[in-house]
Amino acid sequence: MKEDSRSINIRAIQHYMYCPRRFALLEVNDDWAENSYVVKANLLHENVHDGEHEYAFRDKIVKNSVVLFNDEYDIFGIADSIEFVRDPCGVLIPKLEGKFRVRIVEYKPKPPKDCDYHESDAIQVFAQKICVDSIWDCNCEAFLYYGEKRRRVLLPFSDPEVIDKYSSLLKSYLEAMRIVLKEGDIPTRRKSQRCAGCSLSDLCFPKSLRYNVRQKICEIAGGEH
Ligand code: SF4
Repeated sequence: MKEDSRSINIRAIQHYMYCPRRFALLEVNDDWAENSYVVKANLLHENVHDGEHEYAFRDKIVKNSVVLFNDEYDIFGIADSIEFVRDPCGVLIPKLEGKFRVRIVEYKPKPPKDCDYHESDAIQVFAQKICVDSIWDCNCEAFLYYGEKRRRVLLPFSDPEVIDKYSSLLKSYLEAMRIVLKEGDIPTRRKSQRCAGCSLSDLCFPKSLRYNVRQKICEIAGGEH
């Protein structure tokens, strides 16, 4: 782990990609607000994470809500679902008998209209793959499951060029996120930013105002002494 490194939750990468200001409001200011998009995504994930966390089938074992981490990238998170598919050419998995191919399945509500998957969904799953491959010493497959279409999309992570592309994208996002976390500033709204689906729109003050909940609390607490 690098000296100035800071652990990043994989799910925050999507927040940063959507809007760096949103990421900072959530991670620096500890702001939070829900809207219909957030509730819909939460309901989909509740279906996965509630109830039994392990299922055994004839050809595979499925574990839900699996904790992941990777020290080199200093990232962590929870995968919706990891499938261990029986395969004599697969890898050994501690506490399981036999050899397995490993698959990530991440649940998302809505696919894009004009292509198979959202880039931000793919980067999130790529970050999970970094963790899974290092934990189980494998080269896992990765799928997105879009609830609205009820179908799985295989991500093209067997292609070395795609791997290179996502690896450098992931590193550049993590680096930019760590700068925001280290400096503690809330970035201004991007000119091209689309805000229609953002649950934080009511909290997102005009860019000329530096809004900081912690600062406000400190000011109030200071005034009481
Ligand atoms: S309202 Fe717009 S600028 Fe503000 S956090 Fe949300 S997406 Fe970003």
